[in-house]
Amino acid sequence: MLVYFIGTGGSEGIPAHLCTCSSCNEARKFGFAQRRPSTLAVVTENRKTVLFDVGTDIRDFLNVPLEAIFLTHWHHDHIYGLYKLRWMAMETELYAPEGQADALILNEPKNLKPKTLKPMDRIKIDTLKITALKLNHQVETLGYLIEEDGKSFALLYDTKGLPEETWQVLRKKAPLRGVVVDATYPPGFNDPYHNNVDEAAEIGLQLAERTVLSHISHKNLPFLELVEYVRKRWGNKVLVAYDGMVFYV
Ligand SMILES: [Zn+2]
Ligand SMILES: [Zn+2]
Ligand SMILES: [Zn+2]
Repeated sequence: MLVYFIGTGGSEGIPAHLCTCSSCNEARKFGFAQRRPSTLAVVTENRKTVLFDVGTDIRDFLNVPLEAIFLTHWHHDHIYGLYKLRWMAMETELYAPEGQADALILNEPKNLKPKTLKPMDRIKIDTLKITALKLNHQVETLGYLIEEDGKSFALLYDTKGLPEETWQVLRKKAPLRGVVVDATYPPGFNDPYHNNVDEAAEIGLQLAERTVLSHISHKNLPFLELVEYVRKRWGNKVLVAYDGMVFYV
């Protein structure tokens, strides 16, 4: 499978409108430092596509049928693109946790077919086996373990640390090929709902051959500084995601 990072930012995206912090200023100079809100696609061995979160309008990046859409949670930065996508000309299943579901999407789903998922629910989509995992966030949130032909990959945002039950599931599968972890904030920053860069890397290093840091806020280190910090500390075991990045699992 191939993982396509369409959006790797936090709620505000980078640059945030009119913000003059160093992350936002840098992103106005270097296009690669810009970040759309979190949106990720998995392309299977059969070239089928599954979408995980829709933080942005996907039409410029992905113009194929979607086998299914999975939401991690209903915060606006993970569902914003759904408002437009629900008009697509093909019925598509939308799997999501129940908590804090968006009323507009549920009342007027158009061509989306919403279905509720709970931790440890398992779904087969094309060649993928997808397991929902409990995460630690402000609202009910699911991570996903995605397995295909003996190779596995996990998506772990938004979260602060991991619940014990999720550690247990993932440790049994370790080392995964890759894991994407919430790294919203800079090293040393403490937030009850999101990891900082060090917390995210420590989770990933225990579970996977490669850790990809994503869901990055403009409050984090500016792109080039962040890449330098991560490279010096963890070599190529930990990568900083960027919009347009492709990771082959
Ligand atoms: Zn988020
Ligand atoms: Zn900023
Ligand atoms: Zn969130």
